[in-house]
Amino acid sequence: MALEPRGKGSRQIKRSVNVKWRQRRRASGSAACVALERNKAAKPPKKGVAILNPNQNIVVLTGAGISKESGLDTFRDEDGIWSKVRIEDVATPEAFARDPGRVHDFYNMRRNALGMSGVKPNAGHKALARLEAEWPGRVLVVTQNVDNLHEAAGGANVLHMHGELMKARCAHCGDVFAWADDLDVSMECQTCARTGGLRPHVVWFGEMPIYMEEIHQALELCGLFVSIGTSGNVYPAAGFVQHVRMTTDAHTVELNLEPSEGSAQFAETIYGQASEIVPAFVQRVLEKGW
Ligand SMILES: [Zn+2]
Repeated sequence: MALEPRGKGSRQIKRSVNVKWRQRRRASGSAACVALERNKAAKPPKKGVAILNPNQNIVVLTGAGISKESGLDTFRDEDGIWSKVRIEDVATPEAFARDPGRVHDFYNMRRNALGMSGVKPNAGHKALARLEAEWPGRVLVVTQNVDNLHEAAGGANVLHMHGELMKARCAHCGDVFAWADDLDVSMECQTCARTGGLRPHVVWFGEMPIYMEEIHQALELCGLFVSIGTSGNVYPAAGFVQHVRMTTDAHTVELNLEPSEGSAQFAETIYGQASEIVPAFVQRVLEKGW
């Protein structure tokens, strides 16, 4: 994703998200902190376990690699989604302005694929939900994925920086709501009753990722940063490890099928199938810390 927003649509999105952030902060702090506080309060500290760093926060970044074993296509692999369709035809504000029907078709297809019975969270998603439930400190999952597999595995503290496939957003009023059906250009917004504004709640190329302020706050407070299943070449997520290294003493770990483009920046790297290496890593952290 590019860093700078382009076009009228993306400015509207950024503004509406910022308004919501401000409202949330005024009410009770940032989304990440609220989520982390709720997580902390729910768990008593473990007894008799000599964890090195039990009260430190963990931030986990996930990408398409963790969902591939659940049957969802990745984007940048040789056989990934971007080898079959052109980004500029289906995943930019300009494409939506030019041919909204085609963009809706693409995301309706992906939403239907996510809803197919065979697509379920795998052992990697489940292990992260376990980490969140059992780690005595705080755990936040930041995902680049628009699927809902972290939540389906039981994860609660999840920020979708690239949006969510199972939500729709109104370009007229900015409202975001759960959406499991197909979208089309004739539909009416349930909030403002205007037509033609409903779009997938996903961040397109040329638009700003969401929750960036909360994510940077969480990165600066973490003791462990883990990157799972990301290609390491999509910013700003690819820059998170560097941000952690510049602002904290946190341990940094890459879990991936193969070394990513940013692998040299991590203190520790583990390679293999996510469904195998993520549960093993979570087990190790829960037993010993890092
Ligand atoms: Zn609306």
